[in-house]
Amino acid sequence: MTEQRYAIIGAGPSGLSAARALQKQGVSFDGYEASRGVGGLWDIQNPRSTVYESAHLISSRTTTEFREFPMRSTADYPGHRELIAYFREFADRFGLTGLFRFETRVTSLARTDDGGWMLHAEGPHGSVEQRYDGVILANGTLAEPNVPTFRGEFTGEVLHTSAYKTATQLTGKRVLIVGAGNSGCDIAVDAVHHAASVDMSVRRGYYFVPRYLFGKPSDTLNQGRPLPARIKQFVDTRVLRAFTGDPVRFGFPQPDYRLYESHPIVNTLILNHLGQGDLRIRADIDRFDGRTVHFRDGSSGEYDVVLMATGYTLDYPFVAREELNWTGWSPKLYLNVFPPAFNGLFVMGMIEASGIGWQGRYEQAELVAAYLSALDHHPDRAAAFRARVAAEPWPDLTGGYRYLGLERMSYYVNKDAYRRAVRAATETLTTDAVATTPRRGIRRPSLARRRAKGVAA
Ligand SMILES: Cc1cc2nc3c(=O)[nH]c(=O)nc-3n(C[C@H](O)[C@H](O)[C@H](O)COP(=O)(O)OP(=O)(O)OC[C@H]3O[C@@H](n4cnc5c(N)ncnc54)[C@H](O)[C@@H]3O)c2cc1C
Repeated sequence: MTEQRYAIIGAGPSGLSAARALQKQGVSFDGYEASRGVGGLWDIQNPRSTVYESAHLISSRTTTEFREFPMRSTADYPGHRELIAYFREFADRFGLTGLFRFETRVTSLARTDDGGWMLHAEGPHGSVEQRYDGVILANGTLAEPNVPTFRGEFTGEVLHTSAYKTATQLTGKRVLIVGAGNSGCDIAVDAVHHAASVDMSVRRGYYFVPRYLFGKPSDTLNQGRPLPARIKQFVDTRVLRAFTGDPVRFGFPQPDYRLYESHPIVNTLILNHLGQGDLRIRADIDRFDGRTVHFRDGSSGEYDVVLMATGYTLDYPFVAREELNWTGWSPKLYLNVFPPAFNGLFVMGMIEASGIGWQGRYEQAELVAAYLSALDHHPDRAAAFRARVAAEPWPDLTGGYRYLGLERMSYYVNKDAYRRAVRAATETLTTDAVATTPRRGIRRPSLARRRAKGVAA
């Protein structure tokens, strides 16, 4: 039998996860990375990077790092410089760096007559054309700006967070930040030290989680058995109220949804600055008129810069949308990884979740590697897996939370429900046990519990 060969697109945390997991299973691959090296968006020099000088982890180090390669940092929330060094070390330690072609951008994937994929890429030595049995897409989810349109025209400067690198870009300017997501709040906190004035326009209310609760990184608390959604929402809402107070007091609208139904904002410095009068919350934008921005509450303001902190949109520009089963805002994939047609494409990193970290992404990679290995060594298991995906209800990945019906939430998962489902699916591919899918998800608690305790499966 000829050796199967796969391609990995992207050498960010997800692509590195895929590379490591395939390497462990003895699956052959070539990696393609458009930028100069590994680390994805954590390399601020990567032209597609969307981190800025002040960017730090939002999830804490121990909940984020790869389990088999703990960070040497002692910081709870390391900054991007430490993180890029970490990914370089990780890739070097496991001999992954040499398995990628850098400065080589994949430009198209087309099906071949024999069921494989023809990959085209542009690199430093010209075009590359290579056939693969399958392709792992790990090209990131936070690179393509989502820029809303508003009535009228703004004659000042319009920036998106993707073009924001350092606060000095805003020195002396009257700045309006649109959106109070994690990047918007980070940038507002930067801007107050440099800009002439900072306003923030918001459409809805937010929940603000402190980085520390009871003296510990907040996401390290309650790490054992997850509480049911309603109980967690009840308890954590009260904890937040006790620690951060009511954001409405600082000018934010009352959230019209419960805690964790949208991505929480891990930033309370923004509230400190609001309390100090360093910035102001404004209503949703109604229209632009020259340098004037009119808001929906009838007020207006004059600005030099409108900074759109309005997030990103999924983008897989090198492959036809139907191959990824795009449905509305995002591809509809089994466990956010497998197109239901099992066409040899596998998507990594298309998960947005609170606290899933790189270990969560690595577990996705283990699942892909287990499937590819099963194709070679246990085709019966791979076939059974495909049959279950076709015949059984897909696992519920929400954890019981009712996520907001927004584009950025369309591929959101609950980290516990997701990791449990992924581990269970991996187990069906790595053992001969016949899995059955319970109503709320594919679940084999014994293994999940053993893994949670750190006991090797
Ligand atoms: C400010 C900020 C803070 C964040 N904080 C956290 C946090 O605290 N915890 C957390 O878990 N996550 C955080 N994230 C999310 C972050 O996206 C992930 O940590 C992680 O970088 C995702 O890895 P990835 O490999 O999927 O994507 P990326 O890191 O985006 O890597 C994708 C790679 O693919 C390459 N690529 C793209 N297209 C092509 C192509 N056509 N051909 C070849 N190569 C290509 C890109 O150059 C890039 O190197 C944060 C993100 C930002 C912007």
